[in-house]
Amino acid sequence: MTVNELKTKIVEEAKRRDTIILAHTYQNPDIIDIASVTGDSFFLSQKAKELKGKRVIMCGVRFMAESVKILSPETEVILPVPSATCLMAEQISPERVRQFKSENPDTAVVAYINTTAALKAECDVCVTSSSALKIVKALPNKNILFIPDKNLGSYVKKQLPEKNIILWDGFCPVHDKLTKEDIINLKNEHPDAVFAVHPESPEEVLEYADMIGATSEIIKYAKSHNGKVIIGTERGVVDYLSTHEENGDRFIQLSREKLVCEDMKITTLEDVYKAVIGEQGESIELDENLRQKALKSIEKMLELG
Ligand code: SF4
Repeated sequence: MTVNELKTKIVEEAKRRDTIILAHTYQNPDIIDIASVTGDSFFLSQKAKELKGKRVIMCGVRFMAESVKILSPETEVILPVPSATCLMAEQISPERVRQFKSENPDTAVVAYINTTAALKAECDVCVTSSSALKIVKALPNKNILFIPDKNLGSYVKKQLPEKNIILWDGFCPVHDKLTKEDIINLKNEHPDAVFAVHPESPEEVLEYADMIGATSEIIKYAKSHNGKVIIGTERGVVDYLSTHEENGDRFIQLSREKLVCEDMKITTLEDVYKAVIGEQGESIELDENLRQKALKSIEKMLELG
């Protein structure tokens, strides 16, 4: 079977089985092509809720499939490759958060959405990379523990000096590899380009940015800018923009070697096909008490954000 025949078969089988295929923007381009919806992780979980499909195939990593299940408990949510995980999402244990809270009752625990359902259940509020600043600012607490990403946390901390923000020492192993030399060298090659970067990157890289934002915001910014844009996030974004937009060569990848998330790329078209026809993948199950607690943190995020 050719790749195109396989793609057609996946779309047909998904339709026949009332199955929605969600794909995070960092997925392989072939998977982006056959997805019903693509985007950031939280956007995808909201879309799944809106679309009310019987089944969802979540092409991404485990915490994303869990987020879909938190918002849509009645839906069968399948993670095609059960080993696909976000290395940042588990860099602090729920037990450690519980211990911290008992020792620091006046400190609000803020969890980036890139965390497990078990961590979301322990925190006071979740944030996305685009809502983090607004939500931390709106919290009545002066003392904040920001988990797990120290880079996003430090970006928020720098802009809110009135808050006492404690950073956890977690990070995204993909974005955290970037250095200021990566951007300086590329800017020297393309002095007319603007630079858009994800806040999971180290501060020394953010300092060179014309725009700092979540994946969807970077895409929006890059599309609206007429000239060259250097993009500092997982290479799926440039792969997408360079093939779906006019003058695609104006989107320049910052460090293509570093900015690849192996867990995001592990899922193949064959995996998706097998998941759609029920031969592969893990159906995500969450303890109802834990799900309700995690949902509260997400609802608080929506209320404040
Ligand atoms: S790019 Fe980073 S934050 Fe995103 S899934 Fe991969 S490891 Fe996790």
